[in-house]
Amino acid sequence: MTVVWALSGAVAGLLAGVVGRGLVHRLAVPGGAPDRGCPRCGGPVGWTSRCCGRVLGPRLELVTAAVVASAAVRFAGRPEVVAFAFLGVLGVVLALIDVAVERLPDRLTLPAYPVLVALLAAAGDWAALGRAGLGCLALGGAYLVLGLARPGGLGPGDVKLAGVLGLALGWLGWPELVVGGALAFVLLGLTSAVLLAARRITLRDALAFGPFMLVGALVAIAL
Ligand SMILES: [Zn+2]
Repeated sequence: MTVVWALSGAVAGLLAGVVGRGLVHRLAVPGGAPDRGCPRCGGPVGWTSRCCGRVLGPRLELVTAAVVASAAVRFAGRPEVVAFAFLGVLGVVLALIDVAVERLPDRLTLPAYPVLVALLAAAGDWAALGRAGLGCLALGGAYLVLGLARPGGLGPGDVKLAGVLGLALGWLGWPELVVGGALAFVLLGLTSAVLLAARRITLRDALAFGPFMLVGALVAIAL
């Protein structure tokens, strides 16, 4: 059965990756800038991310397929599998946009709240749903305090993403929430130390934090 779940997840992830690639291409622009169009004709890029007969953007389908396949195996046969597959697709898209332009667009993070709540509610575990709500407030609140305490560190996009991740981690349990939240800072610290030692960055550089939050949550969910 595990093989069936992994394969179905991989196929679903490949299909979702086609849409994800279009989103990354369109939305990886500085804040306030219009969506990026087709590099040839400048026209709008459709949801299948094709224009002028050419496939646009990075090849992220394989990453999305791997993430969704792991979600399918981790939550095989459980009703919350769709919610975590959705989070996986969203996470890949957000991480790539954050790496490219250091922002997490509201157009992706804000709709993720109602979608994720609806998918988790459909799983029908009310105790877990209540804990998800508290996890959302806890992680989002912690990031809000950190962002206010040190302006220029965490951005508003990071705070909004923290609320989304708090929903998913809180659904799983308090240990997952604490581990997932803390791992982001551990991973950021380790990566910064390695890049500093390799002289790839200086102390003045700030790395995009979104990918570390997402990888931290991914590890906590996977374990
Ligand atoms: Zn075109």
